[in-house]
Amino acid sequence: VRDITVNARDSEHGRHIVRSVEDLPEVRVIHVSDRTFLMHLGGKIEVRSKMQLRTRDDLSMAYTPGVARVCQAIAEDPESAFNLTIKRNTVAVVTDGTAVLGLGDIGPRAAMPVMEGKAMLFKEFANVDAFPVCLDAKETEEIIRTVRNIAPGFGGINLEDISAPRCFEIEERLKRELDIPVFHDDQHGTAVVVLAALINALKLVGKRMEDLKVVVNGLGAAGVACTKILLAAGVRNIIGCDRGGVVHGGRDDLNGSKRWYAENTNPEGITGTLSDALRGADLFLGLSVPGVLSVEDLKAMAEDPIVFAMANPVPEIMPELAHGHVRVMATGRSDYPNQINNVLCFPGIFRGALDSRAREITEEMKLAAAEAIAGVIPEESLVEDYIVPSVFDERVAPAVAEAVERAAAESGVARRVRKDEEREGYSGMP
Ligand code: NAP
Ligand code: MG
Repeated sequence: VRDITVNARDSEHGRHIVRSVEDLPEVRVIHVSDRTFLMHLGGKIEVRSKMQLRTRDDLSMAYTPGVARVCQAIAEDPESAFNLTIKRNTVAVVTDGTAVLGLGDIGPRAAMPVMEGKAMLFKEFANVDAFPVCLDAKETEEIIRTVRNIAPGFGGINLEDISAPRCFEIEERLKRELDIPVFHDDQHGTAVVVLAALINALKLVGKRMEDLKVVVNGLGAAGVACTKILLAAGVRNIIGCDRGGVVHGGRDDLNGSKRWYAENTNPEGITGTLSDALRGADLFLGLSVPGVLSVEDLKAMAEDPIVFAMANPVPEIMPELAHGHVRVMATGRSDYPNQINNVLCFPGIFRGALDSRAREITEEMKLAAAEAIAGVIPEESLVEDYIVPSVFDERVAPAVAEAVERAAAESGVARRVRKDEEREGYSGMP
């Protein structure tokens, strides 16, 4: 018997190799690894000190006794924590592991790799020190209490992958109770990038927000938040659909957020199916499940239809199928044009919020972030396949941060207001 270890580039490839090796007599596979798993050994992030401890003198300043005077200064003036601690640059990425990627409720431990990845993105794109906080709690009140209790050390809270409808109340309550930004990225990060994409798509098709008929399919965390930002941006005619079709006041199976939905959307009082709603629609916004949109549906839409089919990893309709029947198409995927990816928003929005020491992230800050993302592409460069900047476009995070910092000052939630000339360079450069 020969013992072998299989190293492969990816798990699919690895399984293939293992199967072929197992067919060989006298060979025993003792270990399989792939490069994605290798990248995760020991986790993806770490904490580092900003200065070295070489002497007793260093020690007595960084720690006791010197540190005590700094603690007292903060006790006398709590706001000075923004100057004297990591609070000014640190965000907690909080999850309960109930809606992780498309994997569902896989629990707090299994959610860690995603939250570590999120922390990496915060650091890479905006120099924000983010820390994964994976909670072994699912009950709304317990999550709220826990986040409230850990908040003093953080300048912001990024709620992540918490399932709907609990995510709505958890966020609302924490926003009210804390004096630092609380931002559920799956809701509002998505909404900001969707709005950015729509702003640019409308420049191409020459339509106005006020005149659009929009159909939103999927009224979970993302669908509800996208609807709210579209209303704030001036859209007046939105119809929402869930598994049961069009959401309207006559339905008796609606939860709290869908009841809100029925009361604040659907001005034509439409009932029926998604296909019924789509007749004459200018925009389809899919935040639901794969494959629910047909070519027939697209044909029934208004002239120059816009389709954002964002179910991940497989969209509501594949771009190949939609081709020829839509004017502008976007998905959540990196292998097609116009990827609507939250990383275009959350690093810059937190950078701007932290730099202004904002008490919250307001509607105005979100709208400013969307305008900034859209504005990265000059109007003369806009084409159907390029309405959303690339996730690697280095102009995005600084543009978002600056717009958000300004909007924080204008909406009265900034604890620090810097004039343009005081912003020397982008504080997101590590
Ligand atoms: P969620 O909270 O679980 O909501 C999913 C919604 O989809 C629910 O309202 C559900 O309806 C609805 N749904 C399920 N099957 C449906 C069907 N056949 N027809 C119509 N609606 C249906 O999930 P989420 O966080 O909002 O995310 C939704 C989808 O959007 C996921 O695929 C996610 O990956 C994707 N997404 C993409 C991006 C991005 O690309 N940037 C960002 C966020 C989310 P019921 O309420 O009736 O159960
Ligand atoms: Mg998420």
